[in-house]
Amino acid sequence: MLRRVSATGLRDEVTDLLRRLIRVDTTNPPGNETAAAELLREYLEASGVRCELLARVPERANLVARLPGGSGPSLLFLSHTDVVLADSAEWTAPPFAGELRDGMVWGRGALDMKGQVAASAVALASLAREGFRPAGDLVFAATADEEVGEGYGLEWLCETHPHAVRCDFAINEGGGERIVLADGRAIYGVTTAEKLSAPFRLRVRGRSGHASMPGIADNALVKAARLIERLAAFRPEPRLGPEVEGFLRVVLGEAPPAAEAVERTRGLSVAAAATVEALLGPTVAPTKVAASSKRNVIPALCEVEVDCRLQPGQRPEQVEPALRVALGDEVEYELEWIEARGGTRSPLDTPLWRAVEAFVAETEPGASAAPLVCAGFTDSHWLREAFGTVAYGFFPASGELAPELAASLIHSADERIPVADLELGVRWLRHAARAVLG
Ligand SMILES: [Zn+2]
Repeated sequence: MLRRVSATGLRDEVTDLLRRLIRVDTTNPPGNETAAAELLREYLEASGVRCELLARVPERANLVARLPGGSGPSLLFLSHTDVVLADSAEWTAPPFAGELRDGMVWGRGALDMKGQVAASAVALASLAREGFRPAGDLVFAATADEEVGEGYGLEWLCETHPHAVRCDFAINEGGGERIVLADGRAIYGVTTAEKLSAPFRLRVRGRSGHASMPGIADNALVKAARLIERLAAFRPEPRLGPEVEGFLRVVLGEAPPAAEAVERTRGLSVAAAATVEALLGPTVAPTKVAASSKRNVIPALCEVEVDCRLQPGQRPEQVEPALRVALGDEVEYELEWIEARGGTRSPLDTPLWRAVEAFVAETEPGASAAPLVCAGFTDSHWLREAFGTVAYGFFPASGELAPELAASLIHSADERIPVADLELGVRWLRHAARAVLG
């Protein structure tokens, strides 16, 4: 039997592994990620890769596998095995069957993110079979509980088993979409930072009364409505930041003033303009309201919860003055920040960035990699905070699935990934290991 690596071999291997992973239902809650960790252990150990299962509770294990290297820098392939709920009534394929249809693997987690789990495992296993000897450790972590984040996954590993996940460089989810510009150039997004999630609560007080005689009361809900409208109209002063500046340099050939960034980008890509728009400053979105629990009682108190995301490096206290100006002084309110999570960034001038650039140039001549801030949230911030890791989100998409369609399938029905993307992902991860640890 030939032991050389054939591209077709790895494509079949990653497709098969993903289909098997999808069949393990790891809907979180409750997660049950141990079943996925055990499947991965069996797969990796067959290629001689050493694995450990680390678990806060037995049914929610994290898998950490390692190809030990010398004293050079270490690289972690980071992924999570839990998935969000799937309602099979909405799907045209069963969500936990891992069907292969028209060159795509269908099922919950195909994009978020069992596809990358499978590709990371296959990249590691194939390198191990070839006898690859990394300069520093090559590590693979398939963690639990990313989607809910109740402390069974990477956060817990960083705290209680730092030796297992400490690394200099990490490749995670959250980037790799292929954006085609109006002039025909292709751009691959790489998330090198994420926004700070800083939700806050507004509390508006009034005076309760019977709803049959509104004139005698002071309705806190009606007063809060005015604040909600003001929040919806909030347009903070735009600011580029290093990532968006880098992105614009690739897309436009220069970084224009922040106020022109969206319009200029729209000329080349509507999707890229929407991405840029969300990154130019804090975003606020009122999402929850609590007032009276009885229809016939006018509320004396109304609480509004607001999803708020700040630019990396920005702090709530820096944004609060502008927010208060926008809210005005017509209605009295209390503002309380609920928490502040994330907001970390990694530098752009690193060996991992150069590995991304070289891979993109080799894969698609004329295409470029461009840095982005993740408007949402991934596990990368735990690594950046605990170890100062350079963590990027990059899992390149072939473009077979349009980026807007792929984005709409995440956490939604009919989630699927082209086999071509799995194959490209394996190639990227193998390339990264050789470039950073070779
Ligand atoms: Zn995910």
